[in-house]
Amino acid sequence: MINFEYRRASSLDDAVSTGAGARRPARFVAGGTTLIDLMKLDVERPSLVVDINALGANDSGLSAVTDLPGGGLRLGALARMSDAAWDARVKERYPLVSQSLLLAASGQVRNMATIGGNILQRTRCPYFRDVATPCNKREPGSGCSALVGISRTHAILGTSDKCIATHPSDLAVALVALDATVRVRGRSGDRTIPFTAFHVVPGQHPERENVLEPGDVITAVDLPALSFARRSLYLKVRDRASFAFALASAAVALDVQSGTIRNARVALGGVGTKPWRSVAAERALIGKTATLVTFQAASAAALSDAHPRSDNAFKVTLARRTLERALTEVLA
Ligand SMILES: Cc1cc2nc3c(=O)[nH]c(=O)nc-3n(C[C@H](O)[C@H](O)[C@H](O)COP(=O)(O)OP(=O)(O)OC[C@H]3O[C@@H](n4cnc5c(N)ncnc54)[C@H](O)[C@@H]3O)c2cc1C
Ligand code: SF4
Repeated sequence: MINFEYRRASSLDDAVSTGAGARRPARFVAGGTTLIDLMKLDVERPSLVVDINALGANDSGLSAVTDLPGGGLRLGALARMSDAAWDARVKERYPLVSQSLLLAASGQVRNMATIGGNILQRTRCPYFRDVATPCNKREPGSGCSALVGISRTHAILGTSDKCIATHPSDLAVALVALDATVRVRGRSGDRTIPFTAFHVVPGQHPERENVLEPGDVITAVDLPALSFARRSLYLKVRDRASFAFALASAAVALDVQSGTIRNARVALGGVGTKPWRSVAAERALIGKTATLVTFQAASAAALSDAHPRSDNAFKVTLARRTLERALTEVLA
Protein backbone atom coordinates (compact mmCIF):
# COMPACT_ATOMS: atom_id res chain seq x y z
CA MET A 1 0.00 0.00 0.00
CA ILE A 2 1.37 3.42 -0.95
CA ASN A 3 1.59 6.45 1.34
CA PHE A 4 -1.18 8.95 0.80
CA GLU A 5 -2.75 11.95 2.50
CA TYR A 6 -6.35 11.56 3.68
CA ARG A 7 -8.79 14.47 4.01
CA ARG A 8 -12.47 14.69 4.86
CA ALA A 9 -14.42 17.08 2.63
CA SER A 10 -16.45 19.55 4.70
CA SER A 11 -18.81 20.49 1.86
CA LEU A 12 -19.41 19.68 -1.78
CA ASP A 13 -17.56 22.81 -2.88
CA ASP A 14 -14.67 21.92 -0.56
CA ALA A 15 -14.53 18.46 -2.19
CA VAL A 16 -14.51 20.01 -5.67
CA SER A 17 -11.83 22.59 -4.91
CA THR A 18 -9.65 20.07 -3.04
CA GLY A 19 -9.97 17.51 -5.85
CA ALA A 20 -9.46 20.03 -8.64
CA GLY A 21 -6.72 22.01 -6.91
CA ALA A 22 -4.52 19.07 -5.99
CA ARG A 23 -1.17 19.18 -7.75
CA ARG A 24 -0.84 15.44 -7.12
CA PRO A 25 -3.26 12.68 -8.23
CA ALA A 26 -6.37 12.87 -6.04
CA ARG A 27 -9.30 10.48 -5.67
CA PHE A 28 -12.62 10.78 -3.87
CA VAL A 29 -13.59 7.87 -1.67
CA ALA A 30 -17.21 6.84 -1.05
CA GLY A 31 -17.78 3.17 -0.11
CA GLY A 32 -14.14 2.41 -0.96
CA THR A 33 -14.98 -1.05 -2.38
CA THR A 34 -13.28 -0.28 -5.69
CA LEU A 35 -10.76 2.39 -4.72
CA ILE A 36 -9.21 0.73 -1.67
CA ASP A 37 -9.12 -2.61 -3.48
CA LEU A 38 -7.13 -1.07 -6.34
CA MET A 39 -4.86 0.87 -3.97
CA LYS A 40 -3.95 -2.39 -2.22
CA LEU A 41 -3.06 -3.86 -5.62
CA ASP A 42 -0.93 -0.79 -6.41
CA VAL A 43 -3.11 -0.09 -9.47
CA GLU A 44 -4.49 3.20 -8.10
CA ARG A 45 -1.77 5.35 -6.53
CA PRO A 46 -3.41 8.62 -5.41
CA SER A 47 -1.33 10.92 -3.22
CA LEU A 48 -4.51 12.48 -1.83
CA VAL A 49 -7.76 10.70 -0.90
CA VAL A 50 -10.74 12.98 -0.27
CA ASP A 51 -13.48 11.31 1.80
CA ILE A 52 -16.95 12.49 0.71
CA ASN A 53 -19.03 10.25 3.00
CA ALA A 54 -19.80 12.92 5.59
CA LEU A 55 -21.43 15.08 2.91
CA GLY A 56 -24.44 12.77 3.01
CA ALA A 57 -25.10 13.81 6.62
CA ASN A 58 -25.19 17.53 5.74
CA ASP A 59 -27.18 17.10 2.54
CA SER A 60 -29.63 14.19 2.74
CA GLY A 61 -30.32 14.48 -1.02
CA LEU A 62 -26.84 13.09 -1.59
CA SER A 63 -27.57 9.83 0.18
CA ALA A 64 -31.30 9.37 -0.41
CA VAL A 65 -33.73 8.30 -3.08
CA THR A 66 -36.13 11.18 -3.74
CA ASP A 67 -39.14 11.76 -5.98
CA LEU A 68 -38.78 14.12 -8.93
CA PRO A 69 -41.66 16.24 -10.24
CA GLY A 70 -43.43 14.33 -13.02
CA GLY A 71 -42.75 10.84 -11.69
CA GLY A 72 -38.99 10.35 -11.99
CA LEU A 73 -36.62 9.41 -9.16
CA ARG A 74 -33.29 10.84 -8.02
CA LEU A 75 -30.70 8.38 -6.69
CA GLY A 76 -28.26 10.31 -4.50
CA ALA A 77 -24.64 9.59 -5.37
CA LEU A 78 -23.94 8.51 -1.78
CA ALA A 79 -27.02 6.26 -1.54
CA ARG A 80 -25.83 2.72 -0.81
CA MET A 81 -26.56 0.15 -3.52
CA SER A 82 -28.67 -1.90 -1.09
CA ASP A 83 -30.81 1.09 -0.04
CA ALA A 84 -31.54 2.01 -3.67
CA ALA A 85 -32.21 -1.62 -4.63
CA TRP A 86 -34.81 -2.16 -1.88
CA ASP A 87 -36.52 1.23 -2.21
CA ALA A 88 -40.20 0.47 -2.94
CA ARG A 89 -40.41 3.20 -5.61
CA VAL A 90 -37.35 1.88 -7.45
CA LYS A 91 -38.71 -1.68 -7.32
CA GLU A 92 -42.12 -0.64 -8.62
CA ARG A 93 -41.24 2.00 -11.22
CA TYR A 94 -37.83 0.71 -12.36
CA PRO A 95 -37.56 -3.05 -11.70
CA LEU A 96 -34.50 -3.28 -13.98
CA VAL A 97 -32.59 -0.88 -11.70
CA SER A 98 -33.45 -2.82 -8.55
CA GLN A 99 -32.57 -6.14 -10.22
CA SER A 100 -29.27 -4.84 -11.63
CA LEU A 101 -28.24 -3.75 -8.13
CA LEU A 102 -29.31 -6.96 -6.41
CA LEU A 103 -27.49 -9.13 -8.96
CA ALA A 104 -24.24 -7.24 -8.32
CA ALA A 105 -21.50 -8.18 -5.86
CA SER A 106 -22.66 -9.45 -2.43
CA GLY A 107 -24.93 -8.18 0.34
CA GLN A 108 -21.93 -6.89 2.30
CA VAL A 109 -20.46 -5.03 -0.67
CA ARG A 110 -23.87 -3.55 -1.57
CA ASN A 111 -24.31 -2.25 1.98
CA MET A 112 -21.09 -0.26 1.61
CA ALA A 113 -20.91 0.63 -2.09
CA THR A 114 -22.58 3.75 -3.46
CA ILE A 115 -24.42 4.70 -6.65
CA GLY A 116 -21.73 7.23 -7.67
CA GLY A 117 -18.90 4.77 -7.00
CA ASN A 118 -20.69 2.01 -8.88
CA ILE A 119 -20.84 3.83 -12.18
CA LEU A 120 -17.18 4.86 -11.78
CA GLN A 121 -15.84 1.40 -10.91
CA ARG A 122 -12.88 0.27 -13.01
CA THR A 123 -12.69 -2.73 -15.31
CA ARG A 124 -12.12 -6.23 -13.94
CA CYS A 125 -9.67 -7.07 -16.78
CA PRO A 126 -7.15 -9.26 -14.90
CA TYR A 127 -4.19 -7.59 -16.62
CA PHE A 128 -5.38 -4.15 -15.50
CA ARG A 129 -5.33 -5.45 -11.92
CA ASP A 130 -1.87 -7.04 -12.24
CA VAL A 131 0.86 -4.40 -12.22
CA ALA A 132 3.40 -6.95 -13.49
CA THR A 133 1.75 -6.97 -16.94
CA PRO A 134 1.50 -4.26 -19.63
CA CYS A 135 -1.85 -2.46 -19.78
CA ASN A 136 -2.64 0.66 -21.81
CA LYS A 137 -5.45 1.63 -19.46
CA ARG A 138 -3.25 1.55 -16.36
CA GLU A 139 -0.08 2.77 -18.06
CA PRO A 140 -0.76 4.46 -21.42
CA GLY A 141 1.49 3.24 -24.21
CA SER A 142 2.66 0.10 -22.40
CA GLY A 143 0.59 -2.30 -24.56
CA CYS A 144 -2.49 -4.46 -24.07
CA SER A 145 -1.83 -7.88 -22.54
CA ALA A 146 -5.35 -9.08 -23.31
CA LEU A 147 -4.80 -8.68 -27.07
CA VAL A 148 -1.98 -11.22 -26.93
CA GLY A 149 -3.21 -13.16 -23.89
CA ILE A 150 -6.46 -14.61 -22.58
CA SER A 151 -9.53 -12.62 -23.58
CA ARG A 152 -12.46 -14.89 -22.65
CA THR A 153 -14.19 -12.30 -20.47
CA HIS A 154 -13.39 -9.29 -22.65
CA ALA A 155 -15.54 -7.02 -24.80
CA ILE A 156 -16.82 -7.59 -28.31
CA LEU A 157 -18.48 -4.19 -28.83
CA GLY A 158 -16.73 -0.81 -28.79
CA THR A 159 -13.22 -2.28 -28.71
CA SER A 160 -10.06 -0.71 -30.15
CA ASP A 161 -6.53 -1.85 -30.95
CA LYS A 162 -5.51 -0.34 -27.59
CA CYS A 163 -8.05 -1.93 -25.20
CA ILE A 164 -10.81 -4.56 -25.18
CA ALA A 165 -11.82 -4.38 -21.50
CA THR A 166 -15.50 -4.57 -20.55
CA HIS A 167 -17.24 -2.04 -18.36
CA PRO A 168 -18.18 -4.06 -15.27
CA SER A 169 -21.16 -2.22 -13.76
CA ASP A 170 -24.57 -3.89 -13.87
CA LEU A 171 -26.39 -0.76 -12.71
CA ALA A 172 -24.89 1.28 -15.55
CA VAL A 173 -26.51 -1.03 -18.10
CA ALA A 174 -29.95 -0.37 -16.61
CA LEU A 175 -29.23 3.38 -16.43
CA VAL A 176 -28.16 3.67 -20.06
CA ALA A 177 -31.32 1.83 -21.13
CA LEU A 178 -33.42 4.34 -19.20
CA ASP A 179 -31.72 7.46 -20.59
CA ALA A 180 -30.79 8.47 -17.05
CA THR A 181 -28.93 11.72 -16.31
CA VAL A 182 -25.80 12.16 -14.19
CA ARG A 183 -25.75 15.28 -11.99
CA VAL A 184 -22.30 16.73 -11.30
CA ARG A 185 -20.85 19.55 -9.17
CA GLY A 186 -17.66 20.89 -10.73
CA ARG A 187 -15.44 23.97 -10.74
CA SER A 188 -18.00 25.93 -12.76
CA GLY A 189 -21.02 24.85 -10.75
CA ASP A 190 -23.68 22.19 -11.33
CA ARG A 191 -24.25 20.46 -14.65
CA THR A 192 -25.95 17.39 -16.04
CA ILE A 193 -24.60 14.72 -18.38
CA PRO A 194 -26.84 12.29 -20.32
CA PHE A 195 -25.94 8.77 -19.22
CA THR A 196 -25.49 7.71 -22.86
CA ALA A 197 -22.65 10.27 -23.13
CA PHE A 198 -21.12 9.71 -19.67
CA HIS A 199 -18.83 6.73 -20.44
CA VAL A 200 -16.57 6.70 -23.50
CA VAL A 201 -15.17 3.89 -25.65
CA PRO A 202 -11.40 3.33 -25.33
CA GLY A 203 -10.29 4.40 -28.83
CA GLN A 204 -6.64 5.44 -28.62
CA HIS A 205 -7.00 6.55 -24.97
CA PRO A 206 -8.30 3.70 -22.82
CA GLU A 207 -7.10 5.54 -19.71
CA ARG A 208 -10.04 7.94 -20.20
CA GLU A 209 -13.28 6.18 -19.25
CA ASN A 210 -15.80 8.99 -18.84
CA VAL A 211 -16.27 12.71 -19.45
CA LEU A 212 -15.69 13.89 -15.86
CA GLU A 213 -13.10 16.64 -15.29
CA PRO A 214 -10.68 16.86 -12.32
CA GLY A 215 -12.57 17.81 -9.17
CA ASP A 216 -16.00 16.82 -10.51
CA VAL A 217 -18.19 15.20 -7.85
CA ILE A 218 -21.22 13.19 -8.92
CA THR A 219 -24.15 14.33 -6.78
CA ALA A 220 -26.96 12.12 -8.15
CA VAL A 221 -28.34 10.06 -10.99
CA ASP A 222 -31.82 11.01 -12.20
CA LEU A 223 -34.19 8.38 -13.57
CA PRO A 224 -36.69 10.00 -15.96
CA ALA A 225 -40.40 9.31 -15.72
CA LEU A 226 -40.97 6.37 -18.07
CA SER A 227 -44.26 4.59 -17.48
CA PHE A 228 -43.35 1.46 -19.44
CA ALA A 229 -40.21 0.98 -17.33
CA ARG A 230 -42.60 -0.74 -14.90
CA ARG A 231 -42.40 -3.60 -17.40
CA SER A 232 -38.62 -3.97 -17.40
CA LEU A 233 -36.05 -6.60 -16.60
CA TYR A 234 -32.32 -7.00 -15.99
CA LEU A 235 -30.99 -10.46 -16.87
CA LYS A 236 -27.41 -11.39 -16.01
CA VAL A 237 -25.51 -14.48 -17.18
CA ARG A 238 -22.26 -15.31 -15.39
CA ASP A 239 -19.92 -18.16 -14.57
CA ARG A 240 -21.46 -18.80 -11.15
CA ALA A 241 -24.77 -17.90 -9.55
CA SER A 242 -23.53 -15.12 -7.28
CA PHE A 243 -20.57 -12.84 -6.65
CA ALA A 244 -19.50 -12.82 -10.31
CA PHE A 245 -19.43 -10.22 -13.06
CA ALA A 246 -21.58 -10.59 -16.18
CA LEU A 247 -20.38 -12.57 -19.17
CA ALA A 248 -23.45 -11.11 -20.85
CA SER A 249 -26.42 -9.17 -19.53
CA ALA A 250 -29.45 -7.40 -20.93
CA ALA A 251 -31.57 -4.54 -19.60
CA VAL A 252 -34.91 -4.26 -21.39
CA ALA A 253 -38.17 -2.34 -21.09
CA LEU A 254 -41.12 -2.91 -23.39
CA ASP A 255 -44.35 -1.06 -24.06
CA VAL A 256 -46.63 -3.63 -25.72
CA GLN A 257 -50.25 -2.95 -26.64
CA SER A 258 -52.47 -5.55 -28.31
CA GLY A 259 -49.40 -7.62 -29.14
CA THR A 260 -47.56 -4.76 -30.87
CA ILE A 261 -44.39 -3.21 -29.44
CA ARG A 262 -45.02 0.55 -29.13
CA ASN A 263 -41.75 1.43 -27.45
CA ALA A 264 -38.61 -0.41 -26.35
CA ARG A 265 -35.36 0.11 -24.50
CA VAL A 266 -32.42 -2.26 -24.89
CA ALA A 267 -28.95 -2.23 -23.37
CA LEU A 268 -26.28 -4.91 -23.02
CA GLY A 269 -23.65 -5.55 -20.35
CA GLY A 270 -20.61 -7.84 -20.15
CA VAL A 271 -19.91 -7.40 -23.87
CA GLY A 272 -19.20 -3.66 -24.33
CA THR A 273 -16.29 -1.42 -23.43
CA LYS A 274 -18.98 0.89 -22.02
CA PRO A 275 -22.57 0.21 -20.92
CA TRP A 276 -24.00 -0.62 -24.35
CA ARG A 277 -27.28 0.93 -25.47
CA SER A 278 -28.58 -0.72 -28.65
CA VAL A 279 -30.71 1.69 -30.65
CA ALA A 280 -30.49 -0.79 -33.56
CA ALA A 281 -32.23 -3.44 -31.45
CA GLU A 282 -34.87 -0.93 -30.34
CA ARG A 283 -35.57 -0.02 -33.99
CA ALA A 284 -35.95 -3.72 -34.82
CA LEU A 285 -38.56 -4.05 -32.06
CA ILE A 286 -40.70 -0.92 -32.33
CA GLY A 287 -43.83 -1.37 -34.44
CA LYS A 288 -43.40 -5.16 -34.66
CA THR A 289 -45.38 -7.94 -33.03
CA ALA A 290 -43.92 -9.23 -29.78
CA THR A 291 -42.78 -12.67 -30.98
CA LEU A 292 -39.59 -14.68 -30.77
CA VAL A 293 -38.91 -13.97 -34.45
CA THR A 294 -38.94 -10.23 -33.71
CA PHE A 295 -36.71 -10.73 -30.65
CA GLN A 296 -34.24 -12.71 -32.77
CA ALA A 297 -34.12 -9.91 -35.34
CA ALA A 298 -33.45 -7.44 -32.51
CA SER A 299 -30.65 -9.56 -31.05
CA ALA A 300 -29.05 -9.91 -34.49
CA ALA A 301 -29.17 -6.12 -34.89
CA ALA A 302 -27.69 -5.60 -31.39
CA LEU A 303 -24.65 -7.77 -32.15
CA SER A 304 -24.17 -6.87 -35.82
CA ASP A 305 -21.10 -4.72 -35.05
CA ALA A 306 -19.47 -7.26 -32.73
CA HIS A 307 -15.72 -7.87 -33.09
CA PRO A 308 -15.04 -11.05 -31.12
CA ARG A 309 -11.68 -12.73 -30.69
CA SER A 310 -11.26 -16.50 -30.65
CA ASP A 311 -11.44 -16.69 -26.82
CA ASN A 312 -14.67 -14.73 -26.53
CA ALA A 313 -16.45 -15.60 -29.80
CA PHE A 314 -19.02 -17.47 -27.69
CA LYS A 315 -20.21 -14.11 -26.35
CA VAL A 316 -21.95 -13.25 -29.62
CA THR A 317 -24.36 -16.18 -29.27
CA LEU A 318 -24.54 -15.80 -25.49
CA ALA A 319 -25.44 -12.11 -25.69
CA ARG A 320 -28.03 -12.75 -28.40
CA ARG A 321 -29.71 -15.49 -26.33
CA THR A 322 -29.54 -13.38 -23.17
CA LEU A 323 -31.33 -10.53 -24.93
CA GLU A 324 -33.95 -12.82 -26.50
CA ARG A 325 -34.63 -14.42 -23.11
CA ALA A 326 -34.89 -11.03 -21.39
CA LEU A 327 -37.39 -9.83 -24.01
CA THR A 328 -39.41 -13.04 -23.59
CA GLU A 329 -39.34 -12.99 -19.78
CA VAL A 330 -40.27 -9.33 -19.44
CA LEU A 331 -43.61 -10.12 -21.07
CA ALA A 332 -44.27 -13.24 -18.97
C1 LIG B 1 -15.87 -8.70 -4.68
C2 LIG B 1 -16.63 -7.68 -5.49
C3 LIG B 1 -17.59 -8.11 -6.40
C4 LIG B 1 -18.28 -7.16 -7.16
N1 LIG B 1 -19.25 -7.58 -8.05
C5 LIG B 1 -19.91 -6.65 -8.79
C6 LIG B 1 -20.90 -7.02 -9.74
O1 LIG B 1 -21.20 -8.20 -9.93
N2 LIG B 1 -21.52 -6.03 -10.44
C7 LIG B 1 -21.23 -4.70 -10.26
O2 LIG B 1 -21.84 -3.86 -10.91
N3 LIG B 1 -20.29 -4.33 -9.38
C8 LIG B 1 -19.63 -5.26 -8.66
N4 LIG B 1 -18.67 -4.86 -7.78
C9 LIG B 1 -18.23 -3.48 -7.78
C10 LIG B 1 -18.95 -2.64 -6.76
O3 LIG B 1 -20.29 -2.49 -7.17
C11 LIG B 1 -18.19 -1.32 -6.74
O4 LIG B 1 -16.95 -1.57 -6.11
C12 LIG B 1 -18.92 -0.26 -5.98
O5 LIG B 1 -20.18 0.00 -6.53
C13 LIG B 1 -18.12 1.02 -5.95
O6 LIG B 1 -18.79 1.93 -5.09
P1 LIG B 1 -18.00 2.60 -3.89
O7 LIG B 1 -18.91 3.58 -3.27
O8 LIG B 1 -17.39 1.57 -2.98
O9 LIG B 1 -16.86 3.34 -4.72
P2 LIG B 1 -15.40 3.80 -4.28
O10 LIG B 1 -14.49 2.63 -4.25
O11 LIG B 1 -15.45 4.66 -3.09
O12 LIG B 1 -15.05 4.72 -5.53
C14 LIG B 1 -14.93 4.17 -6.83
C15 LIG B 1 -14.45 5.28 -7.77
O13 LIG B 1 -15.46 6.26 -7.89
C16 LIG B 1 -14.99 7.55 -7.47
N5 LIG B 1 -16.14 8.15 -6.79
C17 LIG B 1 -16.95 7.55 -5.88
N6 LIG B 1 -18.00 8.34 -5.61
C18 LIG B 1 -17.85 9.46 -6.36
C19 LIG B 1 -18.62 10.66 -6.52
N7 LIG B 1 -19.78 10.86 -5.87
N8 LIG B 1 -18.16 11.60 -7.39
C20 LIG B 1 -17.01 11.42 -8.07
N9 LIG B 1 -16.24 10.32 -7.94
C21 LIG B 1 -16.67 9.35 -7.10
C22 LIG B 1 -13.79 7.26 -6.59
O14 LIG B 1 -12.87 8.32 -6.64
C23 LIG B 1 -13.23 6.01 -7.24
O15 LIG B 1 -12.42 6.36 -8.36
C24 LIG B 1 -17.99 -5.78 -6.99
C25 LIG B 1 -17.04 -5.38 -6.05
C26 LIG B 1 -16.37 -6.31 -5.31
C27 LIG B 1 -15.34 -5.84 -4.31
S1 SF4 C 1 -7.93 -4.91 -22.25
FE1 SF4 C 1 -7.59 -2.79 -21.58
S2 SF4 C 1 -7.52 -3.02 -19.35
FE2 SF4 C 1 -7.11 -5.06 -20.21
S3 SF4 C 1 -4.88 -5.22 -20.53
FE3 SF4 C 1 -5.74 -4.42 -22.41
S4 SF4 C 1 -5.51 -2.20 -22.14
FE4 SF4 C 1 -5.40 -3.08 -20.12
